[in-house]
Amino acid sequence: MEPEPRRPLLLVADDEPVNLKLLVDGLRNDFRIRIATDGESALAIASDEEPPDLILLDVMMPRIDGYEVCRLLKQQESTRDIPVIFVTGVSDEEGETHGLELGAVDYITKPINLRITRARVLTHLKLRQAQAHLAQLSQIDGLTTIANRRRFDEALGIEWRRNLRMCTSLALLMADIDYFKQYNDLHGHLAGDDCLKRVAIAFTAAMRRPTDLTARYGGEEFVALLGDTDIDGALRVADAMRRKVEQLMIPHGGSSHPCVTVSCGIAVAVPSDDSSPEDLVMRADRKLYEAKAAGRNRIAQ
Ligand SMILES: [Mg+2]
Repeated sequence: MEPEPRRPLLLVADDEPVNLKLLVDGLRNDFRIRIATDGESALAIASDEEPPDLILLDVMMPRIDGYEVCRLLKQQESTRDIPVIFVTGVSDEEGETHGLELGAVDYITKPINLRITRARVLTHLKLRQAQAHLAQLSQIDGLTTIANRRRFDEALGIEWRRNLRMCTSLALLMADIDYFKQYNDLHGHLAGDDCLKRVAIAFTAAMRRPTDLTARYGGEEFVALLGDTDIDGALRVADAMRRKVEQLMIPHGGSSHPCVTVSCGIAVAVPSDDSSPEDLVMRADRKLYEAKAAGRNRIAQ
């Protein structure tokens, strides 16, 4: 039997049992539901290991009201993107405006109409999914489907700050396919695209930890970003990248080597306040140039 697709998880927060029962009874066929009867527990559930896909949030609750809950959710990285729909007893423009300004996606007034509630929940779940999909696409290289330059730039900034805090060294590997222009000229651009895809897969396979990131930097240039890695670790990964491409045995008629090879430059640094991620990129780039100048299919550090 096909496994059932996972139903979305809703958090319904309301201090009145009658409202909770109404919403839960009306939505339980389409969604998995967790309930909270006050603001504190709503916040706790939202920050749980499996965060809800959407929150239906009563405005009037004792102690922490819905507005405050929403404000706190939007402040926290892990809960910021969960869509919030306010459910309120009174229909007033000011309240609705306030709720939307706090970052809620919609506003439903009591008495609750279940069909409308269900339709709006479904709409916002779909929107959220589409947004997440787009966000992911914007970070992926269309041809090779590994991370793109934008994703790399973001990751470099994050890893730089993280390694600065931890006083650990960060390694950047910059690799480039040797004689790629000649490859394209001789074998055609379709074969060139195929070569890029296969090299991307080989590089990905050379990464050792799930946090190691390999990305297409542009053209036939790739990068690998390795946090908490010293020169020995970086050399091992660079060598694995070089060897894995060599082992693909992609025939190359326009190279000094019979098959496609790569050159790689390594830069390693413990981030400090008087250096920058751009310095690291520049150093790796310079080393890559050295590897090329020294005869290609090699690593320079
Ligand atoms: Mg209430």
